[in-house]
Amino acid sequence: MYVDSHCHLSFPELAARLGEIRADMASAQVDRALCICTTLEEFDEVQALATAYDNFWCSAGVHPDNEGVAEPSLDDLLVRAQRPKVVAIGETGLDYYRLNGRSIADMEWQRERFRVHIRAARATGLPLVVHTRSASDDTLAILREEGAQADRGPGGVFHCFTETDAVARAALDLGFYISFSGILTFKTAQALRDVAAFVPLDRCLIETDSPYLAPVPYRGKTNSPAYVPYVAQQIAALKGLPVEAVAATTSANFERLFKLPPLATPSP
Ligand SMILES: [Zn+2]
Ligand SMILES: [Zn+2]
Repeated sequence: MYVDSHCHLSFPELAARLGEIRADMASAQVDRALCICTTLEEFDEVQALATAYDNFWCSAGVHPDNEGVAEPSLDDLLVRAQRPKVVAIGETGLDYYRLNGRSIADMEWQRERFRVHIRAARATGLPLVVHTRSASDDTLAILREEGAQADRGPGGVFHCFTETDAVARAALDLGFYISFSGILTFKTAQALRDVAAFVPLDRCLIETDSPYLAPVPYRGKTNSPAYVPYVAQQIAALKGLPVEAVAATTSANFERLFKLPPLATPSP
């Protein structure tokens, strides 16, 4: 019924109890998940999860926050994108939240890394999983400059969306999807709920970004894909829809964006 479009099941706190997590997913009717890669070093492990389980897929990419890791070349990404069950490039993007004393000008390496990912997405046709924090103007500008728009490029999703309605509108104009996480359930997130209220449901995805950002009522605990229904419930409340409609539409959006077949209905 539900899809978690962004989780980090290779991170130790989740990988260590994968059996339990998969059982929790089944009882919560979370039938699919996209396992997100954040370093080249981690890629084999993430991709192994996707090949080990029919209902997992994965991405290839290096997170903008990761320093002191292998810097991906276009070829590094193209080679990994060929591997089975890789359906996206990312997560990639820009994050100016923790500059650690540097200026935005000093972050050129991050912008260059982002451009390399967009070129890989264009070359493979795989959509981008975009992370943006305190950097929305540059993120949007680089997506435009590199031709990532869905009508002539790979398109993709702004994951764990926390930006303003203006940024949401700009992302929608580029043909991107917008993915909401458990942050939507936080008491302090009214501005974000206002954004979610207007983003058309056929452009919304839901995610956990687990192990981080557990939704209310699990806030502060280790997150898991089994909690993604709480995000769907929040969107359903905002839009005045049954949660089943949010589950069905966000699942169909996931299939459309990542070019996956609809889930086979289990035989009775
Ligand atoms: Zn992210
Ligand atoms: Zn992530």
